[in-house]
Amino acid sequence: MLSLCAPVTAEIRLATKQGGLTAEQWGGIIAKLAALVNEFKVSGLELLDTEARRQVLDALEQGGKYFHLLIAEAPADDLQLLGELRRLAHFGSLVVDYLPEEAELAPEEASRYSDLREFCERALAVGAEVNASVELGEWACRHLESIIEASYDLGASSVICNRVLLNGTDAVSEETLTAALTSLGKMRDMSYSVSLGNCVPNCFSHLGERGCLGGVVSAFVNEKGQLLPCRCSAEEGMSLLDCSVSEAWHSPALEAWRQKLPAPCAQCAKGDLCPGGCRAAGCAGHPGDPLIRAPYCAEVEELHEVVLEEDLCPRPLYITRNEEFGWALIRANQVIPVSFKAGEILQLFDGRHSLADIERRFGVSALSFVYSLYVRGFVEFSEALPAEEG
Ligand code: SF4
Ligand code: SF4
Repeated sequence: MLSLCAPVTAEIRLATKQGGLTAEQWGGIIAKLAALVNEFKVSGLELLDTEARRQVLDALEQGGKYFHLLIAEAPADDLQLLGELRRLAHFGSLVVDYLPEEAELAPEEASRYSDLREFCERALAVGAEVNASVELGEWACRHLESIIEASYDLGASSVICNRVLLNGTDAVSEETLTAALTSLGKMRDMSYSVSLGNCVPNCFSHLGERGCLGGVVSAFVNEKGQLLPCRCSAEEGMSLLDCSVSEAWHSPALEAWRQKLPAPCAQCAKGDLCPGGCRAAGCAGHPGDPLIRAPYCAEVEELHEVVLEEDLCPRPLYITRNEEFGWALIRANQVIPVSFKAGEILQLFDGRHSLADIERRFGVSALSFVYSLYVRGFVEFSEALPAEEG
């Protein structure tokens, strides 16, 4: 399995209702992570007092990496928070827990969701990007299409649906989850931007979603500062207060997590796309994700004839990070590992070297490499830039 020197994205949970680290301690951890990761998700910000929140936001801004805020409780001083976010160049979007008014909920939850919907309206009114996060509980699974439509009516840019696990098993029956996934696929066919936030094995959903990247590409830092593979992991992680990101990322517990591959997945043709379902799912009686079905057999790949104009010049849409094996090409939370040798080809992605130049220098196989980056959205093509004077 791909072994990166550090995570590419990190979610940090600043606090729970029981507390968390100080803003100063978070400042140190954020600086350590920002030197390596490409993007942050941040939860628990609404639980900090105003001064601690300002310090954490400053630390994120100084880190120079985009961050998205996961909001589970409407902030008491929401207008002030929205004002603070507007001045930050690296603030990306809000991901807010969402259910519509008609959802069947206990009174306390109904009130939390009502406050959150009002918060969304205020955030949208000041121009923030809002995405809806929907937990796939019983009611949500049965009403997913109307939830997606309602969140779009509110103004959400996308909907992220999350499978709910309780002690390693799904909170809803497989039949109910299947109905929700069918609705999700249907809404996606109608061009709604809907995704699964945590993975459902490809052999169960057939939605073609990219599988779990927890502990492989992404990491979670809990309110104690411990680095874990994901927010659902029950392991104890090493604290980033006491060690480097790299040490914690290569701890024995995380290495063991990466090796935890259920038997069917080891021989599955989709292993690269969906490596092993959700590793946090499963219990003593059923280790591994209970939704895993029969592995896919290797398919004979169809060859498509593609015409690439030879005078087009590839331009990168990724950033690179030096790794032991070569380079990691990083675009948001996607990573493509390439060897040092391929790095010579990447150097020609400067808007001045055409595909014909690349083929002349590296042969026709280099064009397949360029094409594979193009189909994954890692390069775009442009006309050649005018030569620089002098
Ligand atoms: S068998 Fe494993 S790798 Fe294959 S699709 Fe299912 S969960 Fe993914
Ligand atoms: S183990 Fe499960 S919950 Fe954790 S990141 Fe992977 S899919 Fe998500």
